Amino acid sequence: MIVYISGTYQISIHSYRPKEIKCYNCNASSQIIVEKKVSVYHLMYIPISPYKTKNIFTCTSCNNEFEPKNLKPENKTYYKNFKSKKWIPIWLFSGVIIILFGIGYFAVNQIKKNEEKLSKLTNGDQTQIIQYETDNGNYTTLRTIKITSDFVWLNYNEYEIEKYDFIYQIGGEGNYSTDTVKVDIKIIKELFKQGKVKKIYPIK
Ligand SMILES: [Zn+2]
Repeated sequence: MIVYISGTYQISIHSYRPKEIKCYNCNASSQIIVEKKVSVYHLMYIPISPYKTKNIFTCTSCNNEFEPKNLKPENKTYYKNFKSKKWIPIWLFSGVIIILFGIGYFAVNQIKKNEEKLSKLTNGDQTQIIQYETDNGNYTTLRTIKITSDFVWLNYNEYEIEKYDFIYQIGGEGNYSTDTVKVDIKIIKELFKQGKVKKIYPIK
């Protein structure tokens, strides 16, 4: 059994001690440590994406800890200049990056699959059956007679079926139109592009 652990954690990405800084509380100079912390969503402790950053100021002299945003306006402006400007490191976006790669991989694979199907169709002049999804979400077939680079000659199946699993029920010879229609190959290519072609196979 796999247990998915997810949640958030905080990572310190920058820590330094500015010399020109003074503590508004005890007036000590050069005693404040500034730390930039990033809150991150994680899955199995792999950082998925950051969602919040904080600049925390700690005075080592009086132990005062604060964020500039909680201060009085005049102090807020003063400490604003000492905030860390460090960028969030890229690896804290690991999850987002992996997801983007995943989507890219899926898209490329899908294009490849469609190209394979199309090349199956245009290689050779055997009579082929194309199973595809119609615009109204039903399924039907085409029977190709002849294919060139510009046109397809085909017979339409006069029946459609709601469930793809039962498509063989409408596959009978007698279901195809008797007249052969000449169609622009672009129409067939469009079916592929929309991912509507389910399967192609030659008739023996
Ligand atoms: Zn202090």
